[in-house]
Order: sequence, then structure tokens, then C-alpha cells
Amino acid sequence: MSTLEHGKTIVLSPLVRRITAPNPGIMTGPGTNTYLVGGDQWAVIDPGPNLESHVAAILEAAAAAHASIRWILCTHTHLDHSPAAGALRDATGALVLGMPPLAAQGQDPGFAPDQAWQEGDYLREADFTLRTVHTPGHAGNHLCFHLEQEQLLFTGDHIMEGSTVVIAPPDGDMQAYLSSLRRLQTLPIRRLAPAHGNLMEQPQDIIEGLIQHRLLREQKVLSGLAQAGPCDLAALTAQVYDDVPSFLHPVARHSLLAHLLKLDADGLVRQQNGVWSTSPQRH
Ligand SMILES: [Zn+2]
Repeated sequence: MSTLEHGKTIVLSPLVRRITAPNPGIMTGPGTNTYLVGGDQWAVIDPGPNLESHVAAILEAAAAAHASIRWILCTHTHLDHSPAAGALRDATGALVLGMPPLAAQGQDPGFAPDQAWQEGDYLREADFTLRTVHTPGHAGNHLCFHLEQEQLLFTGDHIMEGSTVVIAPPDGDMQAYLSSLRRLQTLPIRRLAPAHGNLMEQPQDIIEGLIQHRLLREQKVLSGLAQAGPCDLAALTAQVYDDVPSFLHPVARHSLLAHLLKLDADGLVRQQNGVWSTSPQRH
């Protein structure tokens, strides 16, 4: 993944600017992207972690552009996305929009939207229209936002540049993730703006590639399990993710569990006392 400079305002298009928060890491890549959308009335998408310097950079960008921050939208409530919403609301009086946090691990329990948003909700202003697409999979309360004027999709963590999104059950759901990707295939999208990484062109190729990548991995899970015989998650991770560096295996284990739960629902595998095996119905 390429490096994105922290704290600097990058103009991406007539309606979109980006500031990357200084929170790089294994799960966040170069850091969380905060997008600033609009002309002189801005919507901030994913305010990011509640770091003083990041909130100050957002406020300075608005001041420099003579714009006022009117809305704060959160794609979901993981800790690298929504915690700055409160500080930004206090500083600007902006309206916070998003889906309330779920009772799941890694959520920002302090996120309290002024309006709970769902599929189809939209913001129509003089300069722009942002429409909500509910995309569960990475998180049950995950939303993407579609900027009509530029056919740009803010993907949050549903699609990242340069790395595979972690699907961590129970909130993460592989079947839902694939369905959400297929849903995006029906939308007019010219570019993707991920919360981690650079803008991405040729979105439909990328989305189809992501679906195929997951289905291939699913096949590898099935064939790995058939080969290994009944085994636990750790043993199967090493086998199924032999193409992924071992330091990432603890993370990959979450996605493996998500694959297994989908395959279980499909009737292809089963689990007993933590031991997974292929389902006899297959043979
Ligand atoms: Zn996330």
C-alpha cells in the first residue's frame, strides 16, 4: 500500500478533499482517510480516531476553504473511524449521521448519531448528493456513501486499497460481505474512495476481483479441510493461508472462521467442540 501523508489536505476532485489521520498500522494501512465533501457546506465522511492533531487538521482545512462543516457521516463505528465525531460536532455544531454502534468487539460505544441512518437515506444539497448504501459484512452497521455528481463511492472498510478486508465474526459475516459486493455491482460507480489507501479506478473490475478472491479462498478452505481431515482453526489457518505471511495469521483466522461459518450455513462443513470437518453430505 502506498504511503499517504498525514495531516495534509489533498484535493481529489472539485467536490472531494482527503486528510489521512496519523494512525498507521496493520489494520489501518497508511491511516484512516477522512473525506471532506462539498463546496462551501461540507460533509465530513469518517472523522477518524479522536486525535487532537487530526481534528485540528480538519477544522483548518475548512477554515482555509471558507467552508463550514455541517454534517459528519460515519461508514461504521470501528475505533479508527468514528471516535472524532464527538469532538468535531462540539467544534462545529454539525449533525452526526450514521448507524448506531452494535454490541460487538472493537466498536466505538460513544458514537451517538443525531440521526440514525439506514439504506437509502440521503443528503441532497446545492452542490452534492450523498446516498447511503447499507453494506454489512465487515461490520453489521457498515454504510457506503455514493456521491451522485462524481459517481464516486466512499467505501469505508468494505473495500480497501492494497489489502484484504478482515471479516471477523460474529459481527463480520462472509455471506453478507459477498452480497454487499454484488449489490455494489448494480450501482453506477466510476471511482472508489476507501477509508484506507488511495482512490481506485475501474471499480467494477476491482469488485469482481474481490468476489472471485473470496470464492477462491472458500474453495481452498474446502479442499484444505478435505485434505487435513478434522482440525481446529489454528491448524487450518496455516494450511489455507500458506500464501499469507505468518505474522498475519492471527488476523486471517477471523476471516477463515467467517468462511467456515458461511460454508456451515451452506451445509458443506460442520463443527463440533472447535473441530471442523467437511460435511458428510458432500460425499
Ligand atoms: Zn472497520
